[in-house]
Parts: sequence; C-alpha cells; structure tokens
Amino acid sequence: MLEIAIPDPSLVVLIGAAGVGKSTFAARHFGPSEVLSSDAYRALISGDAADQTVTRAAFGRLHRDLGRRLDGRQLSVVDATNVDRGARQALLRRAISAGLPAVAIVLDLPAEVILARNAGRPGRVVDERVVWLHLARLRETLDRPRRQLETEGFSLVVVLGNPREVDQVSVVRQTG
Ligand code: ATP
Ligand code: MG
Repeated sequence: MLEIAIPDPSLVVLIGAAGVGKSTFAARHFGPSEVLSSDAYRALISGDAADQTVTRAAFGRLHRDLGRRLDGRQLSVVDATNVDRGARQALLRRAISAGLPAVAIVLDLPAEVILARNAGRPGRVVDERVVWLHLARLRETLDRPRRQLETEGFSLVVVLGNPREVDQVSVVRQTG
C-alpha cells in the first residue's frame, strides 16, 4: 500500500483540477481545522462557495490564516486547485518564511474520471471548460522534463495517477 510520509509540521499543498476529489481527500486524511479551503473562504466572505468574484479576498484570508498556522508550527493543508505556478509560489513563500517543508500531493486522474465526478457532484458543478483549463495547466507542470514541482521548492512530491491509488493511499505523519 502506498504510504505518504508527511513531515509534521509542514505545508501540504493539494494540486488538481476542479472536481478531482481534493476536498474529499483532505477530509479523509486530515483534521477539519488543518484544511484551508479556498471554497470555504469564498463561502465565508460571500455566502457562496462558487462566487469567483471574491477569489482575491478569499485567498487573502486563506494566506493570512495559513501564515499564522505555519508560524505556530501547525500542519496545514491548502485545498485549492493550485494548478498555477504563481499560486504555488505564494504558498511556498509562507512555508519558507515559517522555516517549514512543503509537500505537494497531486491528484492526476484521467480527464474522463474528473469530468464524470464534476458532473455528478451534488450542488456545485464547475463549467467543463474550466476543468479542461485546469487539466492543461497541470499537464504543463507534470510534463516538464525536469522535476518541476521539486524545482519550485517542494521537498516531497506525490503524484497519484489513478483512482485506486488515491483511494488506497495512507498518510502517516513524521514528527520531529
Ligand atoms: P473543487 O476543486 O471544485 O473544490 P474537489 O477537487 O474538491 O473539487 P470534491 O468536491 O472532493 O472535488 O469531489 C468532487 C466529486 O467527486 C464529489 O461528488 C465527490 O463525492 C466525488 N469524489 C471525490 N473523491 C472521490 C473518490 N475517491 N471516489 C469517488 N468519488 C469521489
Ligand atoms: Mg473542493
């Protein structure tokens, strides 16, 4: 069974297209107070998790809380798509300034699985074109000849490439 050994404390960055299962994965492996979700911050600010007009404010608050948590040496998981390098760099800066390592967990599932999950989700369905955009950005990152995510500053990069891997993986924490 695949085991992810996560340094505790650290910053854990989930990476994957809308609908791939990041929030589900986060809820399965981490405590609710450890998970900082962009959708939860959108909901907090506007009352609507899908309201993209408050994205800036949502990430502002997410970063503020993330910085506080990491500075307090609390393991923190960022549940957002994080398919853009700029978004990851901003998160990595928080970990660096707290002196903590950063782990990337990539949910790299086939497009048909993601689109089916997105279409079948209760409540909020994301526009399919947005999902394709996320997938294209993710491919750009993962298909680079050099290990792009390690180069960006992640000390551990785990790419889960099929639904079985995602469902069977276990997370263990290494304190110290
Ligand atoms: P977003 O980026 O839009 O927040 P997400 O990546 O957080 O999406 P989830 O909300 O976790 O995605 O999951 C999307 C849909 O896929 C949900 O309906 C969920 O039940 C289903 N799903 C998530 N993970 C799994 C899984 N491991 N097996 C089967 N279905 C799953
Ligand atoms: Mg989510």
